[in-house]
Amino acid sequence: MVSLASSSGLSGSVSWWKFLWLLRIPSKIKIFVWRACWQWIPTLDNIARRGVMTVVCPICGVKPESTLHALWGCSGLADVRSSSAAFQKLPWIADGIFMDFITSCARILVVREMEFLCVVLWRIRWKRNQVVHGVFNRCEGSIVGWAYDFLFKFWDANSKGFELAPLGPVGSSS
Ligand SMILES: [Zn+2]
Repeated sequence: MVSLASSSGLSGSVSWWKFLWLLRIPSKIKIFVWRACWQWIPTLDNIARRGVMTVVCPICGVKPESTLHALWGCSGLADVRSSSAAFQKLPWIADGIFMDFITSCARILVVREMEFLCVVLWRIRWKRNQVVHGVFNRCEGSIVGWAYDFLFKFWDANSKGFELAPLGPVGSSS
């Protein structure tokens, strides 16, 4: 059984997938990150490959909306990126593959910070969808504050029963 009790980040002996699955965050957020790694969340860039013409990010209106752009690189997320000392440690990657970004984060951050980052990414995605669907004021609400609150409540409610099952059932979700 792999243990993350040492709280160090991803290291050579543990696969990224196993590392992700052992994080103390809700399964739905693990699956969201897992799907993002495979570029299976519907950003405009991903949709464009299936024939839709518009790929410009709905938040900044400038760059193509790749998975990495939508979840981290967008100029509209500058306040999120600068909001936490942990995030200051991360490399600036504006363009590239989300999988490369998240695995490099896992090597730099300690486990708690990584859990926090996953929840932040999930909330970024939620907020983006609210903006796209016109039901959320983009200036309203702090992503980081919400993520802190969510994660501490989750840890509180699940202090005994974290999922330590090996990676397995995730693969069947699509
Ligand atoms: Zn953008």
